[in-house]
Amino acid sequence: MISEAASLLKKHYGYEQFRPMQAEVIQCVLDKKDSLVLMPTGGGKSICFQIPALLLQGLCLVVSPLISLMKDQVDALNSNDIPAAFLNSSLSFKEEEDIIFQCIHGKIKLLYLSPERLVQELKRLLPRLPINLFAIDEAHCISSWGHDFRPEYTQLKLLKEHFPAIPLIALTATADKTTRKDIIKQLNLQNPKVFVASFNRPNLSLSVKPGIKPKERIKDIIAFITKRQNEAGIIYCLSRQTTEKLTDALKAKGIKAGAYHAGLTSKERNNTQDNFINDKLLVVCATVAFGMGIDKSNVRWVIHFNLPKNIEGYYQEIGRAGRDGLNSDTILYYNIADLIMLTKFANEGNLAQINLEKLKRMQQFAQADICRRKILLSYFGETPLGNCGNCDVCENPRQHFDGTVLVQKALSALMRMNEKVGTTMLIDVLRGSSKGELKLNAYDKIKTFGAGADISFAIWEQYILQMLNLGLIEIAYDESFTLKLTDSGKEVLFGKIKVDLVQPPIKIDVTNESKIKNTKKIYSEKNIGDDLFEALRKLRKQFAEAEKLPAYIIFNDATLREMATEKPLTEDEMLSISGVGQHKFEKYGQAFLNIIHELSYGISTKISKANTYEETLQLFLQNFSPDEIARKRNINVTTVYSHIAHLYLKDDITSIEKFIKMEEINIIKSAIAKIGDVQKLKVIYDFLNGKLDYFKIRLALAFIEKNLLNKIVINAVS
Ligand code: ADP
Ligand code: ZN
Repeated sequence: MISEAASLLKKHYGYEQFRPMQAEVIQCVLDKKDSLVLMPTGGGKSICFQIPALLLQGLCLVVSPLISLMKDQVDALNSNDIPAAFLNSSLSFKEEEDIIFQCIHGKIKLLYLSPERLVQELKRLLPRLPINLFAIDEAHCISSWGHDFRPEYTQLKLLKEHFPAIPLIALTATADKTTRKDIIKQLNLQNPKVFVASFNRPNLSLSVKPGIKPKERIKDIIAFITKRQNEAGIIYCLSRQTTEKLTDALKAKGIKAGAYHAGLTSKERNNTQDNFINDKLLVVCATVAFGMGIDKSNVRWVIHFNLPKNIEGYYQEIGRAGRDGLNSDTILYYNIADLIMLTKFANEGNLAQINLEKLKRMQQFAQADICRRKILLSYFGETPLGNCGNCDVCENPRQHFDGTVLVQKALSALMRMNEKVGTTMLIDVLRGSSKGELKLNAYDKIKTFGAGADISFAIWEQYILQMLNLGLIEIAYDESFTLKLTDSGKEVLFGKIKVDLVQPPIKIDVTNESKIKNTKKIYSEKNIGDDLFEALRKLRKQFAEAEKLPAYIIFNDATLREMATEKPLTEDEMLSISGVGQHKFEKYGQAFLNIIHELSYGISTKISKANTYEETLQLFLQNFSPDEIARKRNINVTTVYSHIAHLYLKDDITSIEKFIKMEEINIIKSAIAKIGDVQKLKVIYDFLNGKLDYFKIRLALAFIEKNLLNKIVINAVS
């Protein structure tokens, strides 16, 4: 069975081998046992139920919380020649009927639906379907211990009551033990096998930039993005207002950015999401609501503009970068203001104690002076062996020093101000600031005024964060966030114990982004086959536009990178590229091979061009539409249109009016007049803001050229 599974993996997905744990999970499902699968985002959970669905007779029902995610997954499956569909409110009655009919008759292997819908259909539709497996995606939503509880998930416990014999597989990227146990209990899983894959994502670089004020963060981010042309990323912010402000700041620098938060209409949100998926927006500034509904595999970086609430959320959010396995960067900014705000939020809910505890762990991670990946992995119950070499601490090992005197200065100042001040005032006093407020309170008269003037504000803030972490001071959330000395703080102040502090990393240089040198860049070095990669990307984009699919569904970045590096020449070589399955090869393979030939080996495909025009012409003359010609010839429709334009210019085809209106030609004409005589398709396309498709522009150019020629001929004759 497993060898059959492996051949399906190759045929449909184009992958050579299973990732750790996938084969075991598949075997377990095939043995009809219940299972719980914990794998990080991007770990490859989908294949764990998709391959069994293909191997078993009948239909696999997949429960997924978000409509957009369903569509994406179904598109991806169909593009790999796997019959799949979804049922949700976006479909018409007729479309639903059609899908149900196909499911009943075994024409569909995977059917996606929401938990609400599944429960509604428990007695109606479900008994009529040949179900072989239930797959519950994002299963942590069933647990109120998790960080994303959804009440509608709790009804899923009815599944085992109604269908005790059908195996159930629950999947999640949230691994904490309480949630894990709760999922099993809530779903009433029978003797389940629990699979916990490693949560390590070595391709994600981790870096934390503490103590940087929001304004500086924006500058830092702009510098970071400017160095990453064409690379998509997400910036998570705490408030809606920040997402808007940040978006404006990025747009002002010409960066294609959009905001995403709960205050927008669902139409606006969907728009932003779609544009991001289709690479029309490169950056989305979002509140945490963004990302769950997308499977975009080429997110190259994730930034947290503020400290996240807990490690689970943080890990899931950074996990949205680099799903394709290529190196990707993550940055976390935070300062004391974030901490204060989040503590306030955590205190408000009815799970205050849990939330505060989780926030504390997050804070410890952010403030860590040992390998950050070690901390993350141990949080998820793993014991990593060595340091990762791909985090800011590994990159810049921290220096420790005896900070007793420094801490005493701060504590003594605090004591002298009767513990009635917050962080900013404390630092201002230590630095001997001339602010009026200090004088008003006579703080400029205390003994430690100016005692720490040689240390910058940002560095002092870091020391204060360390003092908080060491438990020497605490924030009184109920007394306007003033700082208080703890008992151990007093012991330090009175010289009973010494304190070890950590030298803040390289003077928190804001504009100089952390230079993480990666040890194992997998196909992602900028210089390797960059031109070829760009050409392949362009071709992918054409296919994506023609088929109205996200580019990464055609081929993901890792696949294109591998093509650009391996430069396959033949069908066999192309099929050995990870991510090129049989179906995709048939659809796109030749077009990609052509580009590789042309760019890498200088083998021009021009020789065969005469034939290719001729073939299109023959089909055209038999009255096949461009779409049909594309399908018959296994080429892209945009290519067919370019053939038509060429044939029209050569007078092999006499009319193109079927495909383009005169008024559209006029729009393009006046665009050209405004641009000057640049006749590059892309320039015209952009000038018209994408209002007219590429193929129309191409046809219009042919029309204009031909008429110009005719005119010259007429003029010459007369
Ligand atoms: P998850 O649902 O766990 O976040 P996915 O199932 O979406 O992850 O998989 C993440 C990416 O990894 C997808 O692009 C998928 O095609 C790819 N992938 C999954 N399994 C393998 C494999 N065995 N070999 C190569 N790539 C894989
Ligand atoms: Zn590390």
